[in-house]
Amino acid sequence: MSKGRGGGCGRAQEPEEDTLVSTADVVIIGGGSTGTSAAFQLARRRYGKVILVERETVGAGPTAKTIGIVRLHYSYEPLVRLASRSRDLFGQFEELTGAVADFTRCGFLLLAAEGEMPGLRANVDLQHHLGIRSAVVTPTEIAGLDPRMNIDGVAGGAWEPESGFADGYATASGFAGAARRAGAEVWETTAAQRIIVERSVVCGVQTARGEIITPTVLVACGPWTPQLLQPLGVDVPIQSSRQQVVQLGLPAAFGPLAIIIEDMALGFYVRPETGDTVLAGVLEEEAEQIVPADEYNRGVDFDFVERTGRAWAYRYPGASEAQFRQGYASLYDITPDWQPVLGAVEGIRGLYLAAGFSGHGFKLSPALGEVLAALVAGEVPPIDVSMFRLSRFADGHLIRGRHAQGILG
Ligand SMILES: Cc1cc2nc3c(=O)[nH]c(=O)nc-3n(C[C@H](O)[C@H](O)[C@H](O)COP(=O)(O)OP(=O)(O)OC[C@H]3O[C@@H](n4cnc5c(N)ncnc54)[C@H](O)[C@@H]3O)c2cc1C
Repeated sequence: MSKGRGGGCGRAQEPEEDTLVSTADVVIIGGGSTGTSAAFQLARRRYGKVILVERETVGAGPTAKTIGIVRLHYSYEPLVRLASRSRDLFGQFEELTGAVADFTRCGFLLLAAEGEMPGLRANVDLQHHLGIRSAVVTPTEIAGLDPRMNIDGVAGGAWEPESGFADGYATASGFAGAARRAGAEVWETTAAQRIIVERSVVCGVQTARGEIITPTVLVACGPWTPQLLQPLGVDVPIQSSRQQVVQLGLPAAFGPLAIIIEDMALGFYVRPETGDTVLAGVLEEEAEQIVPADEYNRGVDFDFVERTGRAWAYRYPGASEAQFRQGYASLYDITPDWQPVLGAVEGIRGLYLAAGFSGHGFKLSPALGEVLAALVAGEVPPIDVSMFRLSRFADGHLIRGRHAQGILG
């Protein structure tokens, strides 16, 4: 880090004397799974000097609270391809980063009532078209996957035997550590206060530790993205949605849950955790509560515990004695179509966005790092994500998935 006057972009306002000034080829703002993955891929390809700034510690935001489900059931090819490539990268995480993401391939089952079956079949067809191993399963086949399940109301399902879950915090800290070892700087407890833009060109970032002169900024701040962009006149329609999770303790006689279930018929999901606990929540959009990103109830509501417990007891009557152990709430960064905003911001040279993942971004993060690194480097990315451009909201090209639940993408 150099100490002196900033000189980037010939700005009208020079930094004050004694302001710390650094330079970088790219600054990434936000150290969740998205930002750390991008930092790792940029450092790995030796893209000059990479600085990641994170106002807390890496992975400490919503990434730390993720349920971590890694499945490939999506309505659009770029999302299936991102999820598929990411699943491969989760499988190679240790080799890639020297760290563990705790990726567990337990299998993923999506349950559907009759009305959701056409969308489910279309999404599985899309997966098959892309060479992915998955199947549409009948109620009898579902009962074969877990005979303890009550399948009343289930018309069928989609089964992905190679999908699973991973740990959000471990993933972000694994990427950040590997990025550091490949030469990136990771500035924790450092908030980005302002992105400096002059004549529609990125010039730098003002941070709590001084200014960084840079021609390129990638904003990966999840729910906090709009407040950094708004002073630049860029409206990013991301809202913070409070989302709750409960941990249930299973009766000893029941044994562990072996597979992940997302249940569109009941609007509920559950995944294995430790041997005798599971994590559960709801899929329905009606569960969203729009809240200020820094001020919301991080606990869990009684009626949510009751609703989730009822859904669990319906599907698994043999474990209706499950006990509520604990719960928490965190944030989804939701957009009007529940799809992310990715790529260059039109009209400001050097500014890139990767946010608005609407509750399904963790599973995409390893491959997104590759895509974002290519975009920043001015290359054609390995997966075309142009449909997720910010301008779709202004020109009315929203991207809803085939299922009623936006989180399914
Ligand atoms: C309860 C819950 C369950 C989920 N379950 C799943 C799931 O099963 N599967 C799945 O794929 N996804 C899931 N998600 C979504 C997934 O966790 C997120 O999409 C993903 O982790 C987002 O990562 P991110 O890096 O984009 O953002 P975040 O994790 O939000 O990280 C943004 C970071 O930016 C930092 N920041 C903000 N402002 C500044 C600033 N001014 N300067 C510096 N740093 C700043 C924050 O501190 C934060 O660390 C879930 C989310 C929640 C909350």
